Amino acid sequence: MLKILMAASEVNPFAKTGGLADVLGSLPAALMEQDADVRVIMPKYGTIPSNLKSRFIHKGYIYVNVGYRNQYCGVEQTQYNGITFYFIDNEYYFMRQGLYGYEDEAERFAFFCKAVLDAIPHLGFIPDVLHCHDWQTGMIPVILEANYRDTEPYKYIQTVFTIHNLKYQGVFSIPLVKDFFSLDDSWFTDDKLEFHGGAGYLKGGLVYSRLLTTVSKTYAEEIQNPFYGEKLDGLLSARKDDLYGIINGIDYNEYDPGNDSLIVKRYDIDHLKDKSVNKAELQLELNLPVRNDVPMIGLISRLVDQKGLDLIAYVLDELLREDIQFVVLGTGDYKYEMMFREAEDRYPNKMSANIMFDSTLAHRIYASCDLFLMPSLYEPCGLGQMIAMRYGTLPVVRETGGLKDTVTPYNDMNGKGTGFTFQSINAHDMLYSIKRALGIYKYKEVWRNIQKEAMKCDYSWNNSASEYMKVYYKAVRQKFEL
Ligand code: ADP
Repeated sequence: MLKILMAASEVNPFAKTGGLADVLGSLPAALMEQDADVRVIMPKYGTIPSNLKSRFIHKGYIYVNVGYRNQYCGVEQTQYNGITFYFIDNEYYFMRQGLYGYEDEAERFAFFCKAVLDAIPHLGFIPDVLHCHDWQTGMIPVILEANYRDTEPYKYIQTVFTIHNLKYQGVFSIPLVKDFFSLDDSWFTDDKLEFHGGAGYLKGGLVYSRLLTTVSKTYAEEIQNPFYGEKLDGLLSARKDDLYGIINGIDYNEYDPGNDSLIVKRYDIDHLKDKSVNKAELQLELNLPVRNDVPMIGLISRLVDQKGLDLIAYVLDELLREDIQFVVLGTGDYKYEMMFREAEDRYPNKMSANIMFDSTLAHRIYASCDLFLMPSLYEPCGLGQMIAMRYGTLPVVRETGGLKDTVTPYNDMNGKGTGFTFQSINAHDMLYSIKRALGIYKYKEVWRNIQKEAMKCDYSWNNSASEYMKVYYKAVRQKFEL
């Protein structure tokens, strides 16, 4: 049985700021069904809910060097839904209010990367593949090569690295990084860690991992080009034969309109009428007029420019002059939070701005809305559009990354499609797409058919888990061939 250890900075339900946590929370179970032994290692944050934390078992502790500091590193363990999770415990680094955004980010995740490798001999689990996710774990493959490769039990461990979002790269000053990892100058050239004057953790992961993946086929192509490549397109196209695009799945247990305890009225493909009960309740809850005939558009997102919010800014008033309701749930940049709050002041009967992170409300919005807006400038995979389709809420998306790979544009010639799409980064193209959808919404039969098409799609992890298994086997083949 193939043994996989995944290292990541956020994992649902322990800590979540975005899609990365969803993936880490659901992919391991899907891989277990494919006969892999998958375990996950992450930091023990202060924010982990106490009902989960109280079940952690202390396995032991070691000391980890980070520059001049010799840091305590507790290793804790728990079982959740049949998966073993390990936690790296150090209160100085991780007992804080949030997950990210601190001044000593370089040091916190240097510690985490080293701690993961140092903890391996103490887990009672030597992985065949160490699967690292995003920049916070990017230095693991680097120091594995630099400092651990020749010793047991690290000799045959292969590395796979997944890019969930190329924008976030963890670039820090070279002297700092040199010091944290005790690496000499030879590691800081432009074919290794050096990146525009700094040292890139993500870049390290991309250079030193045996195989690379990212979270959709289209994004895998896009990031080899300068527009999407975040200055790493050259490196990624040089490694294109080792780079695989594997679309994320969604957790079919968590997101199931037929069995969702967070929504008011459960429904399925044969009882779509019941979806409107959720809509009425949400309208009440959010102080919007209770009207079933008005199309309700949802947006659930981090409020950052990546999500195409400037397109919305450009036509927001034009959109809100339509007979619609627009429900937003998100937190992020102040200017976008204010944009939606002010729109709510101007159009209290049409706009509901919920500036917060709230998973229950998210489920209710997915279940209640008719349309789900995701006009991203780039989108590595995107989960929102898949969750929406599973709830019979039709997405309006820009054709990029995973949005392009998961939403089939509605074609009125043959009645096929699962949502509405537009190509250019252009606010009026987006508005045209929305208006087209609003036009079709009036034809209940047609709408219902598109909803059914969307709900029939398979966004589970089954297919993608098999794709990951192929990548893992490819990564370890070297070992088995010895
Ligand atoms: P990203 O990873 O770029 O943030 P994704 O679409 O891949 O975007 O994943 C976002 C996930 O986070 C989805 O599950 C979405 O429902 C959830 N989410 C985003 N913002 C909020 C919020 N304010 N409250 C609740 N859930 C949210």
